[in-house]
Amino acid sequence: MACDTFPATRNAGLLRLTQFAPRAGHAYASGRNTDPGPDQVGAVSMLSPYLRYRMITEQEVVGATLGQHSLPAAEKYVQEVLWRTYWKGWLEMRPSIWDQYIQECDRQRDSFPNARAIRSAEAGETGIEGFDDWARELVETGYLHNHARMWFASIWIFTLRLPWSLGADFFLRHLVDADAASNTLSWRWVAGLQTVGKTYLATTENIARYTNGRFAPKGLATTATMPAETPICAVQPLPQAVSVDTQKPSFLLVTTEDLNPESAFGASAKINGAGIFFDTDTLWGDNACSFVAGAAKDAAGRVENYFKCPTKLHDNLDAASLITQAREAGAEQVITAYAPVGPVADALARIAPVLASEGMPLVQIRRAWDEHFWPHATKGFFPFKERIPNILKEMGLSR
Ligand SMILES: Cc1cc2nc3c(=O)[nH]c(=O)nc-3n(C[C@H](O)[C@H](O)[C@H](O)COP(=O)(O)OP(=O)(O)OC[C@H]3O[C@@H](n4cnc5c(N)ncnc54)[C@H](O)[C@@H]3O)c2cc1C
Repeated sequence: MACDTFPATRNAGLLRLTQFAPRAGHAYASGRNTDPGPDQVGAVSMLSPYLRYRMITEQEVVGATLGQHSLPAAEKYVQEVLWRTYWKGWLEMRPSIWDQYIQECDRQRDSFPNARAIRSAEAGETGIEGFDDWARELVETGYLHNHARMWFASIWIFTLRLPWSLGADFFLRHLVDADAASNTLSWRWVAGLQTVGKTYLATTENIARYTNGRFAPKGLATTATMPAETPICAVQPLPQAVSVDTQKPSFLLVTTEDLNPESAFGASAKINGAGIFFDTDTLWGDNACSFVAGAAKDAAGRVENYFKCPTKLHDNLDAASLITQAREAGAEQVITAYAPVGPVADALARIAPVLASEGMPLVQIRRAWDEHFWPHATKGFFPFKERIPNILKEMGLSR
């Protein structure tokens, strides 16, 4: 079902972007909060799986939008795309929040006394109108509208009083666009952990209004008690950006964090061989895995054509096979697009020292987009968003 909604090719993403761009102005701003239901066409772009795996980039999406609208006219849409960038940068400077989330999930899985309540929430059997429908919609389609994600998370935490981390885990296991930063930090935001004390409470009226009257659940929590948590750690500097000598014979490692290496490395880069590493251990659920299986195949075809080098697909990211392939290709280094905090970054951190000890350095390149925006994700979204117009100007994307 997820594959029908999201054909897993870059061209499908680009086509969706082309069709959506004319609606990225007023139509998006006025309609984006309404979730008309899975069978209806809404005002949102549904580009998230393509952006999540970087089959298309934020820069392309914002560029196409500003090709058709002024920045003030498309401000809302551009800001939403930048929420993704903001969350990525925020977590990059506080990687321990991701580790804490993993630990909290494990702890709750082992100790939460009411496993039955979790099962019934995940199966959509709580009797709460809307909530049960979204649980089933998520499992079946791999997608939920942003507002439905907010309502669902709020009811999970404040009405059902279930641990937020297990709700976040349920989302990760079913979303096609499952993402370490956007998912964890959005759940934290709803719970009131992100902007400390500012919780998001779903109400019957708001749900009825923005589902066009499809749902009006009764008995929702009217107060929100923030879960207990250790304070957010201090901001740590972004890992140093490195530059790459693209004239050195290289092996291109393509991960599921960035399936569009053509726009990260120029055609003049001396790439002797490439591997698309599609490792299910670095993804969460069936919906994401089946989307990414198609997306990886699509990337392999594009990479082979663009860099004119032998390109293979692999289902396992391990140091030994990477070194063998890089050597067979006559490469002196392995180059890859920077993997932000999450399972792929963890895997790269494990294999990098092994590669280095074999004289095959792993060089990770950050995109200009991330270089421009991430350093500003030190505080809340408000100060970050104030900088958007100037940065887009600096990047030549707006006047
Ligand atoms: C509890 C919760 C969990 C979420 N988990 C994820 C997740 O795992 N992966 C994910 O990509 N998004 C997540 N989001 C953010 C958001 O819901 C989705 O990105 C959005 O619904 C995708 O639909 P769209 O492409 O039609 O969005 P549009 O409204 O058309 O927005 C365009 C793009 O902007 C970005 N975007 C929009 N809103 C947000 C937002 N609030 N936060 C971050 N990026 C945003 C997405 O990349 C999206 O594709 C979550 C939100 C909540 C409240």
